[in-house]
Amino acid sequence: MKTFLDRIMAEADYQPFRLLGMLRAVQAEYRHIPTEAIEILADRLNIPRTQIIAVAEFYSFLHLTPQGRYDILISDSITDRMLNKENLINYLAHVLRVKVGEVRSDQLVSLNNTSCTGMCDQGPAGLINGRPITRLDRPKIDQIATLIEQQIPLADWPEELFQVEEKIHKRGLLLNQPWQNGDALKATFVRGLPETLTEVDVSNLRGRGGAGFKTAIKWRTCSQQAATPRYVICNADEGEPGTFKDRMLLDLYADQVFEGMTLCAAIIGSDQGLVYLRAEYLFLYDKLQSVLQQRRELGLLGSNILGREGFNFDIEIRMGAGAYICGEASAQIESLEGKPGIPRTKPPNSVMCGYQRKPTVVDNVETYLATAHIAIQGGQWFAGVGTAQSTGSKLLSISGDCARPGIYEYPFGTRIRDILLDCGADEVMGVQVGGPSGTFISNRELDRVLAFEDLSSAGSFMVFNNTRNIFDIAQNFTDFFAHESCGFCAPCRVGTSLLKQQLHKIIDGHGSAADLEELSELCLVVKTNSHCGLGESAANPILTTLASYPDQYLKQLKHKEFSPGFNLDATLNVARRMAERDDPGAHLTQVEN
Ligand code: SF4
Repeated sequence: MKTFLDRIMAEADYQPFRLLGMLRAVQAEYRHIPTEAIEILADRLNIPRTQIIAVAEFYSFLHLTPQGRYDILISDSITDRMLNKENLINYLAHVLRVKVGEVRSDQLVSLNNTSCTGMCDQGPAGLINGRPITRLDRPKIDQIATLIEQQIPLADWPEELFQVEEKIHKRGLLLNQPWQNGDALKATFVRGLPETLTEVDVSNLRGRGGAGFKTAIKWRTCSQQAATPRYVICNADEGEPGTFKDRMLLDLYADQVFEGMTLCAAIIGSDQGLVYLRAEYLFLYDKLQSVLQQRRELGLLGSNILGREGFNFDIEIRMGAGAYICGEASAQIESLEGKPGIPRTKPPNSVMCGYQRKPTVVDNVETYLATAHIAIQGGQWFAGVGTAQSTGSKLLSISGDCARPGIYEYPFGTRIRDILLDCGADEVMGVQVGGPSGTFISNRELDRVLAFEDLSSAGSFMVFNNTRNIFDIAQNFTDFFAHESCGFCAPCRVGTSLLKQQLHKIIDGHGSAADLEELSELCLVVKTNSHCGLGESAANPILTTLASYPDQYLKQLKHKEFSPGFNLDATLNVARRMAERDDPGAHLTQVEN
């Protein structure tokens, strides 16, 4: 183990901020983070062992106890559930003789649920030792089980088991543009850096990661900071359930994304870029590395880019380790610094004090791609599409009850009704626009439009038909937030668990009118008192489904009077056993009015 750790520490230059990468390597080698490894890393990197344990405990893809040699994770997104995921995972557990959430006694296999793996267009999906498996069905599960029982190394499994399809059904402003590597940079150098920033400003491009902050303001503010070095980060951690358009962009349009990062670097004065790639997209890592290498060979990365004296910039890819919260910019920066991904307190904003406490631009994959084309075509070209407040186009990842799930690009301002027609959705009950943190709209609201000023989406667009139960949707999303809360602040840590409990109580038919009222109040508390966007949006699934279908919630109430959500007397069993008492005096009595 010592030799292995010496090697990975040397590769990481013994830099503590590369801890997450080192722990990922240890996890891959030993199937967990052994205590001995923690001691050695703490000693050689000169960091407290508690800090290493905190990181290992924070990320869901790292473990302090050994996982199976074949570690299987099945995506628990609502769209996977709609495709029979629950039956399939139970079948998988049956054929592999392992319980969900456990490691088989011979340590050959472990099986668990995981949050959305970014494959909702080809679910039910999952990961085996980090490699994606899609369109799971019983024959495929039988095949996988046989390969595992025969202990065939993953490298020798049939490649078609790991195939990921990129289905683009509709191309628009960005995806239709012709592309030559280097054109955006050449256009930027000819026009001038301040002038290109003006074009980004004129385009009125707003960040495509969800928050919708104006890109030009972010870049200008960063460029005006006195501190150096400055950093360019590409947020490729699209963890919002139902989103997979960045997967496609990185798979098929990586050059345009990297060129957008490079022109950002030229404008803000940066020589280092980082791509934070979500752990679920490990399968893209080698391909992206070869694109970067090709760009270095073409003189589009490295020193004196395109012959421009003194313009040096390169891009490094760093992997996440399974934490939805790391999609939040400041949490992502913490993660890049080798820490648990806990959102920072703001101000200061990351453009002033970001990675390594230096000025940093963090933008989404799609945003960088858009800037590359704006550099070539100009700001007016982009601003001429969409609405006044939401210029340009938006890529959508469409999944759920529709004939043609996949990637679609629309001008902002497009009606939801028209999108549904394109993707072949019939008998629609509702649409979740923007994933669990977004908005649920009913079939009475289909004339609403895709736009920051109406229905904003980072890319997720889930369709539900009339056979679906509104509570399955609200419950899945609420459970997701309770699971993904980073635990830093009480309103979200406690609040998301209480929301989950209270919603389950109502769904299970134990709710009263008072419970529904309490649920609404709790939503407000979590929304208004949480530290970051996750907590602020964690109540959205309940609030928006309640707004669309209040009658269904009311129908679900079985009691007018209060009914306890749990049995307090039964909960005291442990205490009674410890006190060796079971007499009537040791029991609570319910007082009936
Ligand atoms: Fe963490 Fe939730 Fe608080 Fe955000 S709101 S800091 S995710 S506990």
